[in-house]
Amino acid sequence: MRKQCEIRVNNTIYGGKCPFCGNNSDPYFPLAVFKKGTYEAVCHDCARKYAPAMADAAIMAQKEVQRLNGEAAYYKRKLRQILKIAEDYDGPACDIDDGDLPF
Ligand SMILES: [Zn+2]
Repeated sequence: MRKQCEIRVNNTIYGGKCPFCGNNSDPYFPLAVFKKGTYEAVCHDCARKYAPAMADAAIMAQKEVQRLNGEAAYYKRKLRQILKIAEDYDGPACDIDDGDLPF
């Protein structure tokens, strides 16, 4: 029987067992490959074997999220450094309003 898959947003934290081979599925995030019509995430090997284009898309999405998270962490560090400089500023008085920063 043909293994049918679909790619969807992965809103499951854990993967469980692959419905095709029984290995741990370790699903991609934020998109994962599932057995069609189920919430059973397919493992990486089976995704590449039975739905290579979906596996590629899921890998691309995961790499993009990792890249964006890295960028966000970089800018958070930079903003903290700038705030520290502003707090340590010893010149004429100024007000610092950091209430709108997202961290
Ligand atoms: Zn599998």
